[in-house]
Amino acid sequence: MSQAALLSSAEIISQFDRYVIANYRRYPVCLVRGEGSLVWDAEGRRYVDFFPGWGCNLVGHCPPRVVEAITEQIKTLIHVPNTWYMEAQGQFAQALSERSFGGKAFFCNSGAEANEAAIKLARAYGHPQGRTKIVTMHHGFHGRTYAALSATAQPKYHVGFEPMVPGFEYIPFGDLDAAASVIDSTTAGVLIEPIQGEGGINIPPDGYLEGLRKICDEAGALLMFDEVQCGMGRTGKWFGYQHFNVEPDIMTVAKALASGVAAGVMMARSEVAEVLKPGMHASTYGGNPIACRAGLATIETIEEDGLLDQAKVLEDKFRKVFTEIQHERPELIKEIRIRGVMVGVDLTCDASPIVAECLNRNLLINATQGHVIRLLPALNLSDELFDEGCSILRDVLMDHKFDPDQG
Ligand SMILES: *Cc1c(COP(=O)(O)O)cnc(C)c1O
Repeated sequence: MSQAALLSSAEIISQFDRYVIANYRRYPVCLVRGEGSLVWDAEGRRYVDFFPGWGCNLVGHCPPRVVEAITEQIKTLIHVPNTWYMEAQGQFAQALSERSFGGKAFFCNSGAEANEAAIKLARAYGHPQGRTKIVTMHHGFHGRTYAALSATAQPKYHVGFEPMVPGFEYIPFGDLDAAASVIDSTTAGVLIEPIQGEGGINIPPDGYLEGLRKICDEAGALLMFDEVQCGMGRTGKWFGYQHFNVEPDIMTVAKALASGVAAGVMMARSEVAEVLKPGMHASTYGGNPIACRAGLATIETIEEDGLLDQAKVLEDKFRKVFTEIQHERPELIKEIRIRGVMVGVDLTCDASPIVAECLNRNLLINATQGHVIRLLPALNLSDELFDEGCSILRDVLMDHKFDPDQG
């Protein structure tokens, strides 16, 4: 069954042209309904979604347990500010703590806000010892607010917004020598995605995160993992860092945290978290009961449906599909990088015509860094829709006229 919007896509687009700031590159499609890994547009056209909700809809569109949990909550109490206690926030904090490193939670509404909190906490913790420097990685992505943007070591995002927040230093992802040379007694913390998302699905070399932990410990700096994209079970473990023999002092999670309801969280070891006293940091909507109920229902869905194991099944299936295509078109596919349902296919050419052609054929995917096809499919993607989407992708990649990059 499909449901149309009241306006046509064309009418909605012209309203945007007049009234909505054009700071996004949008495809001329207006989505009105979703179910699992399918979405429909205002004209009733159906798409297979291999990038549901930009990574937020990890258990698909409108997962039934989440819909039910937030519907019940909305009928009972919509918002509770942080001047009062509320059951759902405490339960969600416990659920996250028990599935990670036993820390305490600060809730907010987005990934950037979670990273702002992490950066502020690291500095507040380090101040007595004169530690203010924050070290981050090239090709990392941490959000668009000023500190999160300053932490994002990609110059293209800084252009026009300088000066950045002072005190950030950038080093190459995966390079322990570089890390050892900048992490010192003035360093408050190191912020890194255990698996880089926007940077092109970059998986760290063996021993790298463990080595970084050791360097941080020796220098007395905090290690902070940005799990905004790779966390919540996407890689087959609750958090991306759990694939490695390492634990952070602080981690941040958003995107899939509450199945698409705006939510972010910073988790910190108790001894570090203690530094935040009443009045030092806050968020009006952070930890609201709708988001927390949605988050609890997301965890319940992943556990009761066995979806962490499904991540590995899908990882192997995607690897098989792309390896076969690479075998036939080695000049087109440079590298395949996959962990769970974080899928990166590094091309030797611009990926945007491939995204556009998939859209023409009713498949939603994404490209990042210009030349990397990125898929962040749902953990409960069915065999049928996997096959349908992959056969479109295969056709598009096989038909693609090879046109290598200039640089
Ligand atoms: C998306 C993303 C962010 C920013 O999250 P917002 O909710 O857009 O502020 C931060 N870090 C990583 C790794 C991300 O993928």
